[in-house]
Amino acid sequence: MPAPELPATTDVVVIGAGLAGLVATAELTRAGHRVVLLEQEPAASLGGQAWWSFGGLFLVDSPEQRRLGIRDSADLALADWLGSADFAADGADANPRAWAEGFVDFAAGELRPWLHGLGVRWFPAVQWAERGGYLADGHGNSVPRFHVTWGTGPAILTPFVESLRQAWRDGLVEVRFRHRVTALTTTDGRVTGVAGEVLAADAGLGRGQRSSREAVGGFEVTASAVVVAAGGIGANHDLVRATWPAEFGALPARMLSGVPDHVDGAMITAAAAAGGQVLNAGRMWHYPEGIANHDPVWTAHGIRLLPGPTSLWLDADGHRLPAPLFPGFDSLGALRHLTSRGHDHSWFVLNKAIMGTEFALSGSEQNPDLTGKDVRAVLQRALPGAVGPVERFAELSSEFVWANTPADLAAGMNALTDSDGHSDERDGHSDERNERSDERNGHSGRIDGAELARTIAARDRQVATGLGKDLQVTATAMARRYVVDRLIRVAPPAAMLDPKDGPLLAVRLSVLTRKTLGGLHTNPTGQVLRPDGSPLAGVWAAGEAAGFGGGGMHGHRALEGTFLGGCLFSGRVAGRAVAAALRA
Ligand SMILES: Cc1cc2nc3c(=O)[nH]c(=O)nc-3n(C[C@H](O)[C@H](O)[C@H](O)COP(=O)(O)OP(=O)(O)OC[C@H]3O[C@@H](n4cnc5c(N)ncnc54)[C@H](O)[C@@H]3O)c2cc1C
Repeated sequence: MPAPELPATTDVVVIGAGLAGLVATAELTRAGHRVVLLEQEPAASLGGQAWWSFGGLFLVDSPEQRRLGIRDSADLALADWLGSADFAADGADANPRAWAEGFVDFAAGELRPWLHGLGVRWFPAVQWAERGGYLADGHGNSVPRFHVTWGTGPAILTPFVESLRQAWRDGLVEVRFRHRVTALTTTDGRVTGVAGEVLAADAGLGRGQRSSREAVGGFEVTASAVVVAAGGIGANHDLVRATWPAEFGALPARMLSGVPDHVDGAMITAAAAAGGQVLNAGRMWHYPEGIANHDPVWTAHGIRLLPGPTSLWLDADGHRLPAPLFPGFDSLGALRHLTSRGHDHSWFVLNKAIMGTEFALSGSEQNPDLTGKDVRAVLQRALPGAVGPVERFAELSSEFVWANTPADLAAGMNALTDSDGHSDERDGHSDERNERSDERNGHSGRIDGAELARTIAARDRQVATGLGKDLQVTATAMARRYVVDRLIRVAPPAAMLDPKDGPLLAVRLSVLTRKTLGGLHTNPTGQVLRPDGSPLAGVWAAGEAAGFGGGGMHGHRALEGTFLGGCLFSGRVAGRAVAAALRA
């Protein structure tokens, strides 16, 4: 049956059927408003990035935390947030900060009961992401707060997809896939609708796969309000490179994408062209611990290695990253450290036993036990050895280098660097230019076997003391005071060179692009603002397109689990605000 014609006019157009757009749509249709939901991808990709996500949610003072003896509070969480955000003192971050305060309140209050009422549940072992490692008022989570959703990302989407279906049955929503908005239309300075292209059908394309941009028609819809929920810029590497702050060096020519191709930033540009302000474009949340997917779905598909704290983290020349840039402590700090020095990759060095306890991968498809709600498979996580997807990477990925001695490991690492010209790809220019920049950075891009042996032995000597002065060794021992870390996340202290825990392993890590922390500047109700601070009438923004609220509620750094939460919060706020505006 052919789909009914696209309505020429409606109450609200929502752009983007990711988590933020679905939540806004749910709020609007619940209030009885008619919505046209426009999505550039095929129906197979409904839900956007959230479907691929690990489903980790930042919750504060939850029953799961309390059961584990974690003492958390909204005050502590806000103090952690502000220490990580490092908002500008001159008032430029007033709206981002207001959104941050609202979000922390939400995460400590309504978020969990709301989702619980919608049938969402959580894995009881709360994880400790972004541990910080600076002083009390610096970056990081003082306590574990990363709650993995039972069923991961798809389970967070479920209630909102169900709400969309119900609204469709009630005749309140029209959804159009392969409809790509290219412009917000304005009348007398007010946004009054959208215009765009109908894209070729691309039948048979799987979820997350790159779709064609061939236009087969055009459309226009007028509306009383428009909600921009079109995601961030992470798959647009040119834009990511162009907006990365120059003071932290250049991002490498070869990067992996932690997001599907549709995360292209084009709609943020289109909203700016209609008069909206983009705030904090240089604030981004990319990871230095990316590994190429051996079974890619989207372009340059990379997976983030979720590291436990024990692996030694070495730069491309084999030097340990300085304290507190240990695995899992300060993602942005580690990334800035590497890019400032012109390194295009880094290494985790560990052994097989540490891999078995500490390596995990981000993403719903890399955690089939949690995604499939398979209790028996989840319990296996407490047993020795790595989870299945990690074992598969260990077997199939060329970025995992195994050896019995540090000298052989170094030889394997150098062979991998040489084999694909990784260091030569750094800026896409000539070898000669790379050599010149290597000299400037004092950067050889090679691992010295004897030096590597000394580095590991020095670390092992610290572990053998049972006390020690090496901050990574002491922080790792401290982490084991937390029951979840001790049971499933942090390896017991042991010599890395002990052959019974071998062989040794080095994993080459590349920059993995993921989240956009800046975005469309919005006021506390989600309305898009002009550069002069006045509202751009008729348009609201939510999710990553709005920097998760306010044009950057995270400030410079994130505490993790705050992106899905930010979409839930900003989608809900914007949906409710538009509903209220339509009632007025
Ligand atoms: C592998 C992975 C793991 C993650 N894990 C976590 C986690 O554990 N915890 C956490 O908090 N966050 C996590 N995230 C981040 C989180 O999933 C995203 O930040 C969030 O889902 C973004 O949602 P969104 O609705 O703002 O944007 P998106 O999901 O990107 O949705 C935007 C939608 O808009 C559509 N669109 C874009 N432009 C147009 C246009 N011009 N016209 C029409 N449609 C358009 C897109 O096709 C897309 O469907 C993860 C992300 C990934 C990819």
